[in-house]
Amino acid sequence: MENPKLVVVYAPEGALEIINRATRTAYRSHDKEKPGTREAFVQNIIKSGHESVIEHVSVNFELSNISRACATQILRHRLASYTCESMRYVTMDPFEYVVPAGVENSVEAMKLFEKAVTSASTAYSKLIALGVKKEDARACLPIATKTRMFFTYNLREVRHFLHERLSPRAQREVRMVAVSMYDQLSDLYPWLLSDMEEAYEKAVKSLEDK
Ligand SMILES: Cc1cc2nc3c(=O)[nH]c(=O)nc-3n(C[C@H](O)[C@H](O)[C@H](O)COP(=O)(O)OP(=O)(O)OC[C@H]3O[C@@H](n4cnc5c(N)ncnc54)[C@H](O)[C@@H]3O)c2cc1C
Repeated sequence: MENPKLVVVYAPEGALEIINRATRTAYRSHDKEKPGTREAFVQNIIKSGHESVIEHVSVNFELSNISRACATQILRHRLASYTCESMRYVTMDPFEYVVPAGVENSVEAMKLFEKAVTSASTAYSKLIALGVKKEDARACLPIATKTRMFFTYNLREVRHFLHERLSPRAQREVRMVAVSMYDQLSDLYPWLLSDMEEAYEKAVKSLEDK
């Protein structure tokens, strides 16, 4: 299975400063900041559950190499903005799809799967050739069809997404997206995700088994 490709398109450099400032507004404590304590201050605020302050920073992501099945799960997260590749305007040519790890593991399963997707993509191409609109022809394509999206989460939604999707109960493909999001954001904002390290390690380990 090809890995989902998640790119952090934009993450503000001044995130910590913005959150610190917003939080100190609540406590009228702008003049009480001690040098070198900002990260610990914000980490404590997050730990205390006063998470609305991290909503003031948003990150833009671009995600590709995912199936429609994975996209559907990501789109369930509502406190976000999404732009998805349109199957009404884009012709699925060449037809690309994601093979689930559980199928890839077995020669017999792989044969069956390949047969089904090839038959669907052949039908799609024939419908397009007959002059059927893309928006109608797409109905015969599987949820393994590859897609891409651009989306924006504020940091509270990032934490919520990771909380749900790093879980071993989350589907493997979406778990891979969560692991990649954690990898990149923990480098950029180490103070944001330090309490999620254990969940991250578990998710990484769970991806070793197919
Ligand atoms: C392991 C797993 C299995 C799942 N299985 C299924 C399934 O079988 N069927 C299915 O339909 N879905 C399933 N889901 C999707 C799940 O039900 C949620 O729709 C999805 O995870 C988004 O989570 P959310 O609603 O908490 O998040 P978001 O939409 O990201 O919202 C973030 C938070 O904002 C608050 N919020 C947002 N909107 C509202 C609202 N309207 N009212 C009150 N509070 C709100 C909530 O506190 C919410 O947790 C599954 C998810 C996981 C992780």
